[in-house]
Amino acid sequence: FSKPRNYRRVVVLGAPRVGKTAILRRFLQGGFEDNYIPTTEDFHSKLYHIRGETYQIDILDASNERDFPAKRRLSILTGDIFLLVFSVDDRQSFNEVCSLRTEIKLAKSKLGKSKENTQVPIVICGNKVDLQAKRVVSRPEMCERLGEDAAVFETSAKDGTQMEKMFEALAQLGGLPVETR
Ligand code: GDP
Repeated sequence: FSKPRNYRRVVVLGAPRVGKTAILRRFLQGGFEDNYIPTTEDFHSKLYHIRGETYQIDILDASNERDFPAKRRLSILTGDIFLLVFSVDDRQSFNEVCSLRTEIKLAKSKLGKSKENTQVPIVICGNKVDLQAKRVVSRPEMCERLGEDAAVFETSAKDGTQMEKMFEALAQLGGLPVETR
């Protein structure tokens, strides 16, 4: 069994209530609803048509596996692209993203899929930047711990800040063509 060329699996990880569902809703349907609906539905599939080709993007919200290291590890091994989400008003969620990133890089390099210098496609979202007054994780700190050149976005699923840019980076890092406007 080999994956079709036009197939990508996106794995989403992060602490509870950081906005993963809201971000995915924007990606899948657009829009934002301010009521918290805990999802049990953690798997989405989207067909993406661009320049005469069709791509299938499967998105797994693997965050409910955070207490099950073996399951999480399997999700990491089968993922092509990673979206790690924290909330800028929640320091613990930032720490979690930092350690998830290390875990992913380690798992992928052990697998031999990524040589030391090739990057695993990881996009990081510091979400809820609209909550200025509650922000506790600063931009300089994000750069310091994650690296200047990492694909890090300060997003708001609520007002849409950097959402498009972040989705474009996800696509690009995952080797998908991006629509040029
Ligand atoms: P998940 O548990 O990570 O999937 O988080 P949700 O997407 O369910 O969001 C948790 C709560 O945060 C909900 O009340 C959302 O409305 C709210 N939320 C999500 N994204 C944002 C954002 O960018 N800004 C603000 N202010 N609230 C957000």
